[in-house]
Amino acid sequence: MPEGDSLHNIAELLRPALLDHELTAISVPRSRGMYRLRPGDLVSAVESRGKYLEIEVERGLVLRTHLRMTGSWDLYDSGQRWRKPRHLARAVLETARHVAVCFAAPVVEVGVIGDGRLDHLGPDLCAVDVDIDACVQRSLDADPNLEIADLLLDQRFAAGIGNVYKCETLFARGVSPFALAGSIGAAERQDLFRTAAGLLQQNLGRWRRRTHGDGMAVYDRAGQGCPNCLDRINVRTHGLHGRMSFWCPTCQPER
Ligand SMILES: [Zn+2]
Repeated sequence: MPEGDSLHNIAELLRPALLDHELTAISVPRSRGMYRLRPGDLVSAVESRGKYLEIEVERGLVLRTHLRMTGSWDLYDSGQRWRKPRHLARAVLETARHVAVCFAAPVVEVGVIGDGRLDHLGPDLCAVDVDIDACVQRSLDADPNLEIADLLLDQRFAAGIGNVYKCETLFARGVSPFALAGSIGAAERQDLFRTAAGLLQQNLGRWRRRTHGDGMAVYDRAGQGCPNCLDRINVRTHGLHGRMSFWCPTCQPER
């Protein structure tokens, strides 16, 4: 699933092919709104912000995609066969030598650089100089009855954590996913955001995630043994958006 680290890696993949290159053909079939990229636009930036990818052109426009659960970006040489069918393409950017294709993303839009569309996002946990205190401060606005699992997923507090890093971070700090935000003070929140940032950043540039030893501690390991205590890892769907949490009931006791 695309989380902050994946978006950072996608930006790294696309940047050399697109940055400072002229677009020769563009297709963004479902883009609404008044702005369009056009042939001749020169790409001036390729950046991830939280779970968004932004591709800017010199004319002051930006293509933004959010992949959610289904989307992906691929890069091909011109003429190379695509790995997915053309009808799934939501954005196609061609240069003289490459074709970057965004498949099945639910959010694809063209806007104006600096239009503030992403101002709601918290600090990007994939940035090495991320301001953890600012994440904690923002999170103090959260409803105290919100489960901590949902607080970590809320991109307004800190950008980049998806379900994998949510589960792995809570395990690493021994916090139950069902603990209420009100029971978790500023110091413990700082610990959680710092842990998430560390796990995300250690996976930048890697295509196979490792958050514990050679793989994951709890994510997608329901029924298997906890790496610390060998108790059985549980899974449950819960919270605001019905997301799954994987956790060890011994290492992450309910409060
Ligand atoms: Zn355990």
